[in-house]
Amino acid sequence: MGECMGSASASGRNLNYDALLTGLVVGSINTPTYLAVPVQDAGVVDQFLADLDKEFARTAREKGGQSWWSLSQDFYRINEPNGRSTRCVSFAFTAVKWRAFWERIGNTLYVSSRKSVLDDLWNLNEKLAKGGEAAADITAPTEVKAHAMLRVRPQNWNEILADYRLGWAENNRLACLKNLGPISNAARGMELPAGPWAKGDAERLGSRAQLEANRLYTVYYFCPEGGHYLLNENGKDVACSVHGSALHPTQAMAPDENRSMGKLMQSFAGMTAALTFMEDGLHAVVTLDRK
Ligand SMILES: [Zn+2]
Repeated sequence: MGECMGSASASGRNLNYDALLTGLVVGSINTPTYLAVPVQDAGVVDQFLADLDKEFARTAREKGGQSWWSLSQDFYRINEPNGRSTRCVSFAFTAVKWRAFWERIGNTLYVSSRKSVLDDLWNLNEKLAKGGEAAADITAPTEVKAHAMLRVRPQNWNEILADYRLGWAENNRLACLKNLGPISNAARGMELPAGPWAKGDAERLGSRAQLEANRLYTVYYFCPEGGHYLLNENGKDVACSVHGSALHPTQAMAPDENRSMGKLMQSFAGMTAALTFMEDGLHAVVTLDRK
């Protein structure tokens, strides 16, 4: 969510449901994600999946465009000795391939971006069928009643956390570099000492320009990673001590763990979004769990 909110605001658009949904769908392509749909009649679902197989098999054999950038589609089933059968459909674009796997496991139909996620769910379902273990990990929190629910399960996200951290660090850099324009505008209106400047002047005058920009634009400009704004001796260019400038951008692989964003990431223990269709529109309730 952070990734898609960041990209929605970075491009200057307001956050809307389309951007959010597209972001979630595109984001789920590269992250281990699954969709769970409760099944009431296993026979009907199995018949539907069998009918769907024919459609996918047929379209997979159709030739797409002949050009090298055309999207090609593939479909197959993975049958295992224990009776499991997982369907896979893939879309290839040049050398990049996206896959979706689906399978009915017990009373739920799962669609996932990774086969290993379905394997986990299958093993869990086997355990549950044998009785004993608590179902807390697989089932929805009982107090949530909604038409659709979206859950982030951070206990499983170590695999992708590095990507998210890099994404946050990139968003922080983009946000910081956007401040350079207004701050350097403010600096141009300041009276500056003649050069050569003493050590520390660049930072002192940079902070003054930052305060002046805050006053002029009535916005609080700051570097999310705690960098200082340094004014160049020409009195025009401003650079961040952490993020550099627009022409010389720099950043770390993850947000600074001692800053607020890094701390927030560490305290994050999960998220549940419940969507309910009501007469007056769509109600969304987002619950953030913190350690
Ligand atoms: Zn910065």
